[in-house]
Amino acid sequence: MRDNSKRLSAGADPAPAVAAQPVPTLDFSTPTEIVDLPSRGRFYPEAHPLHGAEAIEIKFMTAKDEDILTSPTLLKKGIAIDRFIQNVLVDKRINVGSLLSGDKNAILVASRINGFGADYTTKVTCPNCSTVGEHTFDLAEVEEYLGDDLEGLDIQPTEHGTYIISLPRTKFQVEVKLLSNKDENELAQQMEARKKSKRLETNLTDQLRKIVVSINGVEDRSLISQAIDAMPAFDSRYLRSAYLKVVPGLDMTQHFTCGACGFGKEVDIPMTVDFFWSKQ
Ligand SMILES: [Zn+2]
Repeated sequence: MRDNSKRLSAGADPAPAVAAQPVPTLDFSTPTEIVDLPSRGRFYPEAHPLHGAEAIEIKFMTAKDEDILTSPTLLKKGIAIDRFIQNVLVDKRINVGSLLSGDKNAILVASRINGFGADYTTKVTCPNCSTVGEHTFDLAEVEEYLGDDLEGLDIQPTEHGTYIISLPRTKFQVEVKLLSNKDENELAQQMEARKKSKRLETNLTDQLRKIVVSINGVEDRSLISQAIDAMPAFDSRYLRSAYLKVVPGLDMTQHFTCGACGFGKEVDIPMTVDFFWSKQ
């Protein structure tokens, strides 16, 4: 019966019974774009929506997003950027805290480009003569690093998305994990708290405590903490530089030439508040 009626009506008259009236309308849907994830979806657990995902879909920045980015309350709490990223993610199952920091940066830079263009003008202090001058970075030139340049380093990936790094002096086998955005925020809060209470700042060891999962298979946090405190500086430096090699993300260094003294150097593109508020 249903099939018949369909065929009949289709055959009877292809034109709609009532002519559509032109109704004034505005399309509010925000355009989206696809951003490559430097992690390529590695390191996300199986249950995570980004497990194995090479890219992520984000909405273009809207005026509402600009509100978030300029909200003094959110800025003071330091959560404006996270709130903003959460907002532009199309897949609402993804929590911004669970993003790897390199992937988060890729989303930030892509959003900055689609919202305000690739030219980023900000103040840079010359490392040579300390003159503060304006410099324009080209965000379109920022390249991703996949965390795969491990040549000459004793680093082994594990099945759980972690790496085992062998330390040259103590010969410790140190298992490290990649930091999520949430981990990095906690670390920043920890550092801020120590600074405020004028306690000894322990930024380097705090960071190591955060990334180290186990040492020689031992997972006891207290033992790991003691081992980190007692670690020879040579090993701790090796561990930090090896860690930087496995972390996928964006290469945020670009060439800067000082207008005052002519000194040239590769510098980190500052990811300060200016990033979204610099003049066009
Ligand atoms: Zn200079």
